[in-house]
Amino acid sequence: MTVTYDKLFIDGGWVAPTTDRRIEAINATTEEPLGSVPEASEADVDRAVQAARTAFDESGWATTNPTERAAALNRFADALEKRAELLTRSVSLQNGMPLSLSEQFEGGYAVALLRYYAALATSTENEERRPSPLGFDTLVQRSPIGVVAAIVPWNYPVVLAITKIAPALAAGCAIVLKPSPGTVLDSFILAEAAEEAQIPAGVINWVPGGRELGAYLVSHPGVDKVAFTGSTAAGRLIAENCGRLMRPVTLELGGKSAALILDDADLNKVTEGLYFASLANNGQTCMACTRILAPSSRYDEVVDAISAWMSSLKVGDPLDPSTQVGPLASAEHRNRVEGFIDKGRAEGARLVLGGGRPKDIDRGWFVAPTVFADVDNASTIAQQEIFGPVLSVIKYDGDDEAIKIANDSDYGLGGSVWSNDSERAMSVARRVQTGTIGVNGYVIDLNAPFGGVKASGIGREFGPEAMSSYQQLKSIYLPG
Ligand code: NAD
Repeated sequence: MTVTYDKLFIDGGWVAPTTDRRIEAINATTEEPLGSVPEASEADVDRAVQAARTAFDESGWATTNPTERAAALNRFADALEKRAELLTRSVSLQNGMPLSLSEQFEGGYAVALLRYYAALATSTENEERRPSPLGFDTLVQRSPIGVVAAIVPWNYPVVLAITKIAPALAAGCAIVLKPSPGTVLDSFILAEAAEEAQIPAGVINWVPGGRELGAYLVSHPGVDKVAFTGSTAAGRLIAENCGRLMRPVTLELGGKSAALILDDADLNKVTEGLYFASLANNGQTCMACTRILAPSSRYDEVVDAISAWMSSLKVGDPLDPSTQVGPLASAEHRNRVEGFIDKGRAEGARLVLGGGRPKDIDRGWFVAPTVFADVDNASTIAQQEIFGPVLSVIKYDGDDEAIKIANDSDYGLGGSVWSNDSERAMSVARRVQTGTIGVNGYVIDLNAPFGGVKASGIGREFGPEAMSSYQQLKSIYLPG
């Protein structure tokens, strides 16, 4: 059965799109159609931005009591929770995410984020009277920044949308959200939840479309701030436009993170933890630790342990709860990942596992779990984001060299350090140039800032820091 939507959610209701262009959703496992939605046009974006402008400038949303904003976010959380099964299945069907992960992130984490920012909206003081050393007081005021253009990718479409919606609404902003054409069905379920939650008209609007539409939204004169998650290449173009427009922008971009396995690590614990740290969502995860740094004293042992673990993973239908590795999100993306595997071979890395499509699966965009050993950190597969189930094991001598290799990357988003001595691991973690890093595991804490350094981005999401990024500061001097 396919799902068809005919209208767009703009200004608190379902409106007819201005063109008849559509976006098709395809099942990543069967390659069959899942449904289709209208593609928004520039005229639809104009309408959405105008609705958000009116909600922000005139409807009073920006000046509502934080308790009312919190109540709206909690109603949204309830409406999302009711639809969690539908949402998580929809994501897994579209992008191949194993259902267990989808339930955890696209369902549970998204709901938790809405409730977290609801609580933060009411507990945050937005005015602070600060004594000046010059003998008078200053009132420092935080106010919502305005209309937000939010653009998200296809890999975690629900949680990444909520990562922007929740803090923006908690701060009092209105938002126009552009989902990726790679995963569109879920955004209509989100819109249905917003409607049921009676989020005031114009406060959240959805405009599904491709990169040209995203570029149009970024530069729209009615937008006050851009919040982007996606590739570094697109992030650079968006940053250029925002620089020209002097428009605040948050950029959550790509990564090529390292797992630093120290010479005293328990390899059983490492492989258990690497499933999320390195392979979550079939490797289609921005902070995935796909460079495995192994000490020369235990190099062969690490390569064997990683290969044995990767070959034990269950590859198959993402809706089967026992599946650990599903298909990639599109045929085009699988071709890209296979191109990197060819490049790895051509540049002299030693293929120890996988390297192609799984033998017993004849449809769906699968790539078998793949391990390269003897990888040079300067090579393409060690420097570029592959975004698939492909790990590179790189040899080092001593902790200092491990840190040097980890830092020898254009990116700095995630990372992990593995050791039986947690103090030693912590001191290594402090020296890795990255926005986030885990010790003997990798988790994402919604109460702590998440984001990247270097080409992995600018700004932070999660925690109180994300809400601050949707606010502007004003100092009111009180000398009299
Ligand atoms: P992408 O950059 O191709 O597209 C992301 C979104 O931006 C899509 O909605 C797309 O339509 C839009 N877009 C593309 N070019 C644009 C432009 N010039 N102007 C405005 N909008 C534009 O990325 P993708 O392939 O959809 O997603 C995968 C990438 O996202 C990976 O690089 C991954 O690392 C990154 N990512 C980062 C994080 C993070 O938190 N740092 C999280 C998830 C994904």
